[in-house]
Amino acid sequence: MNTLAGKVAIVTGGASGIGRATALLFAREGARVVVADIDGAGAEATAAQAVPEGSAVAVRADVSRPEDCRRIVATAVDTFGGLHVLFNNAGIIRRTTALDLDVEEWDRVMAVNVRSVFLMCKYAVPAMTEGGSIVNTGSGWGLKGGGNAISYCASKAAVVNMTRALAIDHARAGIRVNSVNPGDTDTPMLRDEARQLGEDWAAFADDAADRPMGRAGTPDEIAQAVLFLAGDAASYVTGSALVVDGGGLA
Ligand code: NAD
Repeated sequence: MNTLAGKVAIVTGGASGIGRATALLFAREGARVVVADIDGAGAEATAAQAVPEGSAVAVRADVSRPEDCRRIVATAVDTFGGLHVLFNNAGIIRRTTALDLDVEEWDRVMAVNVRSVFLMCKYAVPAMTEGGSIVNTGSGWGLKGGGNAISYCASKAAVVNMTRALAIDHARAGIRVNSVNPGDTDTPMLRDEARQLGEDWAAFADDAADRPMGRAGTPDEIAQAVLFLAGDAASYVTGSALVVDGGGLA
């Protein structure tokens, strides 16, 4: 049987990268999926690619905004009749030190990466009336430091520990909450990071110190870990931080 048969899922940041790969995998595994992204056309494109046809709908939404988060959850309930899985994955990065970062940029990274997880959980948990599974995208840089990414490192550490707090608060309601923590994964975000640092992609991708396996991960490899946490195979896993980084943190 498919891992998510009969389940309704939300994927934020579903227009691109890890979110798109996960939304498509969730659909193949039997879920009906709400694909939410600030990039409305990209979210539509993901929903259109989902197999079986009609298993996904797109919502244009900014997950830093309360009314948008409420609308994402309402779409799941109104369109598909409930909610079981939430993948809080939308995120942004600014590759600067504290010296070069504007206060507004600090606030934006915190709003998109951290406030969004709080808001989505605030509205999604009451809709998970049959229990559920929430997966939040942290990062290897939520578990250790990283250079030239002060706001991002702070935001992802917050996601990892907020995940633990949510897991404790909602365990008795049958809701599991875990973080998935990717290492470098070949997505538009990572390629944009190379640009922000003024580095050639080939040289950036060849950073051997961070990559014992000699390569970056793929979005599909992260999606498989999210699927495990989302499904019943992980029924006793909550509050955990699953690292999927080809050995980078090791
Ligand atoms: P990506 O840029 O390909 O996808 C991120 C998506 O989030 C985009 O579609 C973007 O439009 C969307 N988004 C951004 N701001 C939004 C907002 N305010 N509201 C709604 N949607 C918004 O990046 P990705 O690499 O797939 O990243 C997905 C997650 O994985 C992020 O949380 C990122 O921090 C995390 N991550 C990525 C890597 C990596 O190496 N790629 C490593 C560790 C963690």
